[in-house]
Amino acid sequence: MINKALEVLNKYYGYSSFRKGQEKIIEEILNGRDTVAIMPTGGGKSICYQIPALLLEGVTLVISPLISLMKDQVDSIKELGVEAAYINSSLSSNEIVIILDKLKNGQLKIIYVAPERLESNSFITLMREINISQVAIDEAHCVSQWGHDFRTSYRNIKGFIKSLNKRPIVSAFTATATEEVREDIVTLLNLKNPKVFIQGFDRENLKIDVLKGINKKDFLLNYVRENSELSGIIYTATRNEADKVYEALLSRGYSVGRYHAGLSESERTVNQEAFVYDKVNLMVATNAFGMGIDKPNIRYVIHYNMPKNIESYYQEIGRAGRDGEKSECILLFSPSDVHTQKYIIDVGTNNPERKINEYKKLKQIMDFVHCNSCLREYILTYFGEESPGECNNCSNCNLEGELIDKTIDAQKVLSCVYRMSRPYGVNMIIDVLRGSQNKKLLDLRLNELSTYGIMKSYSKENLKEFINTLTAHSFLESVEGEYPVIKLNQKSIEVLKSKEKVIFKEPKKVERLVVNNDLFENLRALRTQLAAAEGVPPYIIFGDTSLKEMSTRYPITMEQFLDISGVGEVKANKYGEQFIKEIISYTEKNNIEVSWNFKKDIKTPSGSKKNSPYNSEEALVDKVQDNKTEDFNKKTPKLNKEKSFEITINMIKNNKSLGQIAVEREIAVTTVLSHITEFLKEGNSLDFPVDFTGVFDEQVEALVMEAIKEVGASKLKPIKERVPEHITYDQIKGVILKNFSE
Ligand code: ADP
Repeated sequence: MINKALEVLNKYYGYSSFRKGQEKIIEEILNGRDTVAIMPTGGGKSICYQIPALLLEGVTLVISPLISLMKDQVDSIKELGVEAAYINSSLSSNEIVIILDKLKNGQLKIIYVAPERLESNSFITLMREINISQVAIDEAHCVSQWGHDFRTSYRNIKGFIKSLNKRPIVSAFTATATEEVREDIVTLLNLKNPKVFIQGFDRENLKIDVLKGINKKDFLLNYVRENSELSGIIYTATRNEADKVYEALLSRGYSVGRYHAGLSESERTVNQEAFVYDKVNLMVATNAFGMGIDKPNIRYVIHYNMPKNIESYYQEIGRAGRDGEKSECILLFSPSDVHTQKYIIDVGTNNPERKINEYKKLKQIMDFVHCNSCLREYILTYFGEESPGECNNCSNCNLEGELIDKTIDAQKVLSCVYRMSRPYGVNMIIDVLRGSQNKKLLDLRLNELSTYGIMKSYSKENLKEFINTLTAHSFLESVEGEYPVIKLNQKSIEVLKSKEKVIFKEPKKVERLVVNNDLFENLRALRTQLAAAEGVPPYIIFGDTSLKEMSTRYPITMEQFLDISGVGEVKANKYGEQFIKEIISYTEKNNIEVSWNFKKDIKTPSGSKKNSPYNSEEALVDKVQDNKTEDFNKKTPKLNKEKSFEITINMIKNNKSLGQIAVEREIAVTTVLSHITEFLKEGNSLDFPVDFTGVFDEQVEALVMEAIKEVGASKLKPIKERVPEHITYDQIKGVILKNFSE
């Protein structure tokens, strides 16, 4: 059965192997066992219930809490060629009737519903009539009061399942791993002897950086300038700060949106959509933003302020890199972030117990920010997970920047604070150290201290930054209140006694995160155009990972295109030609020779047949027919065991002109020509007549031949430069094929 699952993975999703955990989870579900899967965001939960849905008899009912996500989720699987639908309050009653009819007639394999739907009697009655093979519960932690998104209607799932005539397999998925939540999922959903899978919480593709004592605004502007074409989220602690950062980016001409609770609902929806549909690259937001964002190509998350606790932080950075590509998460810390968070806690709740808990969590994230060991290890330990030790992918493991010994300067600051005899605010300390003539300072006779004016070489701004960095590293204590003041602590004393050194790193240099080539940009533009025509987010057409692979491997035939990760058969049929055309044109313009080594490999029960995703067809069709879901089967694309170029060659042999073939097969002339090339590459020769009608006429042929006399036929570009502009690369290629192939 698991071999069939692998076939489906390849055929529909275009992936060659399962990710960690997926295979075992799918296997259990297919064996009929209730399953709980705890996987981090981006771990690939959907495939774990969608593949069983395709292989099991009957329908899979997916319970999902977010109406806003359902459309995208369903659009995504429909793009793969799977018959799916959703029912929620955004549909009219007419639309719902049509979907229910399809369900009754066995035309759907997957149906998404919101949990509230399970309370409708008519829905329950209908569900009792149809064959539900699996109930998959997404975001299953919503059933638990301990989770952060408790939803009362999740409590009805248990009763709903009980009311069905035949108990389906129940699978539950979440990214929330605490013990209480896990237990609640099992008991409150009434799972029967479930197999529980807990996947590692680590997101290896995320680089975790914490930067202290830097100028946040300068850093951000530099970062965004270097990475302006990538998608990123910038989280701030308050609406006011979000507005300020947004204005700063907007006024510099960046493509940016914002999202916080101070905006109207419609404004928020429009801004969120602009981000998801790649219309703006940057989103500046408070923690109100992010639930219901499935966008896989978010390349970075910057926390402009320290968030309130580790849970929120990990959830927010988890939105980066869902597609598995390398992504960066950068927390920009300054001591004033602590004041902001304390203020938010103070005004946020009157409940003393909650307040204490929130303060405790705040202290934990402060410890995280100040810790000197591996940041990933800190987080994993926090979530009760074993960590393999240093990750070499966080700012503590990769000490970026040069280490500088700042002990002497630190001692100057600390001894000044010591001599000032009572605590003062940071500005007064700066004034003393820089020898200011400030009246209050003189009145207090602070100019008589031995430390007066000993740090004149520092600018006011730089000295403030230095003191903030000392505080951020706990060499000084900041005491909040209406007028925050600075005090010494035990660590300060150690430094003053020269028992501890103060060593800082130079601030991280901003580098471009991803360097994409021109072809990637061309393919991205094509994807945006296709997505706009279909009204879906661009990532639903192809993910960045697929485009990246296309732009470095240059697939120029359908077979090669199918070898790209994330290209399944339906998408290849639907979009292959347009992407291939773009790739061919790029390779020709840049004189790129394409050589291909196939990567995808499918193991079938009868052994493995390399490079052919087609051999899974029979198995799957058999299964579907067994299930008597003929309509579903009809919609499943039929695949030819014959290679695509062989069809073209047979048509040529049957005296069809190349133009005719292009029309009849609904493919581009470029593709027809590439079929001939492939045929030749396999060692064949054109020992039969080829009618080039539809590609070029005699006049074009003469002009191209004239150019070839001058520059030869080995490269297309020099020929193109010598012929009139209206003559295309396809035509040149055609003339060469006609006159120079053996
Ligand atoms: P989750 O729901 O766990 O956050 P998703 O199901 O949205 O994650 O999957 C995240 C991304 O990973 C999607 O773009 C998905 O297509 C991709 N993905 C899932 N499984 C695989 C796989 N086996 N190989 C490659 N990519 C995968």
